[in-house]
Amino acid sequence: MTNKLKYFIANWKMYGDLKSLKSINKVINFVNSNKKKKIQIIYCPPYTLLYPFSKKIKNTYLELGAQNCHPNFEYGAFTGSVNPRMIKSIGAKYVIIGHSENRANGDTDQIVNKKIHSALKSNLTVIFCMGETLAQKRKKIAMNTLKIQIKKGLKGLKRNSKIIFAYEPIWSIGTGLIPNNPDLLKNIIFIKKFLKKVIKFKNIKVIYGGSVSPNNIKVLNAIDEIDGYLIGGSSQNSKKLIDIVKKTFK
Ligand code: PEP
Repeated sequence: MTNKLKYFIANWKMYGDLKSLKSINKVINFVNSNKKKKIQIIYCPPYTLLYPFSKKIKNTYLELGAQNCHPNFEYGAFTGSVNPRMIKSIGAKYVIIGHSENRANGDTDQIVNKKIHSALKSNLTVIFCMGETLAQKRKKIAMNTLKIQIKKGLKGLKRNSKIIFAYEPIWSIGTGLIPNNPDLLKNIIFIKKFLKKVIKFKNIKVIYGGSVSPNNIKVLNAIDEIDGYLIGGSSQNSKKLIDIVKKTFK
């Protein structure tokens, strides 16, 4: 049981069409009947669904975010891209940056940093993803990897920037595997301390992402330092998402 505000960020990845919008009715009703609990659900559907989602969730307790953005703040000749101002203009308040699936497609720490600057300038809250590979975990250099991602990703930013930090071990995304609790706690505390002491960040929120499901949420909830979850696969199923939230507040 918790009294803390918890984030549940639903990353739909490259799934969903207009018909899928109906599925969130259950989530809207659930949140409406649990107003007193500190639940913040943020849907991050693909770009094609951002505008219909923004209309759908108007006057509800749900919030909206994009899964990525172009690094440029200005408009320009970038075929197929969407900048953070465009995301903000349709009513979204958040954007995921640095997701490992986008890092794997070429987003370096420098590009991630540029995207974060542009997103913050557009007044979006950034969901900044970081995490180690399995090889880095095995070599026991996970913390060093996190340090580099944080330092380079946050270069030049103000200490009170609107950022939610998502710790997502790459080996746990979509695999059904989660870190054991002592390791997870150690890394979450490390991220919080490093951000506070070295980067001098304030109001630090660190969420966990990687194969979160109704089956493992109880185990994860034992770690009070986790401020919420970034949820991929399980978030596309409203029943599973509600189950995760319910079990967090039980
Ligand atoms: C994610 O996409 O960030 C994620 C954590 O996915 P999954 O929950 O499917 O592992």
